[in-house]
Amino acid sequence: MRIESLYSHLSDHLFINFLNTIRHEYDQTTDILEKKDVDEWFSLMKDEQLLTDRQIEKLKEAPVSIHELQSFRDRWRTYLQHSSNELPIDELERSTKETPLSFELSSGSLVPVPHRGGTDGFLSLLSFLMLQAYENSTFSKVKNCDNPTCLALFVDKKGKRKWCSMKVCGNRVKAQKHYDKKKAES
Ligand SMILES: [Zn+2]
Repeated sequence: MRIESLYSHLSDHLFINFLNTIRHEYDQTTDILEKKDVDEWFSLMKDEQLLTDRQIEKLKEAPVSIHELQSFRDRWRTYLQHSSNELPIDELERSTKETPLSFELSSGSLVPVPHRGGTDGFLSLLSFLMLQAYENSTFSKVKNCDNPTCLALFVDKKGKRKWCSMKVCGNRVKAQKHYDKKKAES
């Protein structure tokens, strides 16, 4: 199974795609980090133009601990889903301090590159992107999909979006409502 097909939608934010590496569909939970190689995930993010060759080359310099990534992901999923709580932004700052990043110009954009690869480098890069998202208020636009069985998070830029994917969850919820209504009528 191709890694793309494990996603209901792909975000233009790397950290959202990372937080969505856990998916629930048809009563089955799939952990993309466990099911797929992290390298495969990096390649997908490269195809989506969310990681550059240089960043991937750096990240691959040391091994990545799936366990640590899962723990970071699950923690931050909880924080963002309960946005009334104070976000532990200092955790992100600590990560970028422990593994600093430098910036390289690539095709006219500044690309953050952690000084080390592996788990620390990857978490530092994610933390940096999340600090940016916090700074530019993207965090406050992170929403849960309206489909109650879907785990996907997305950035609701205009404040109108209900589903991670209209094609997947929107249609499914509408079909279910239609079915329930018909059933109630008969
Ligand atoms: Zn959804």
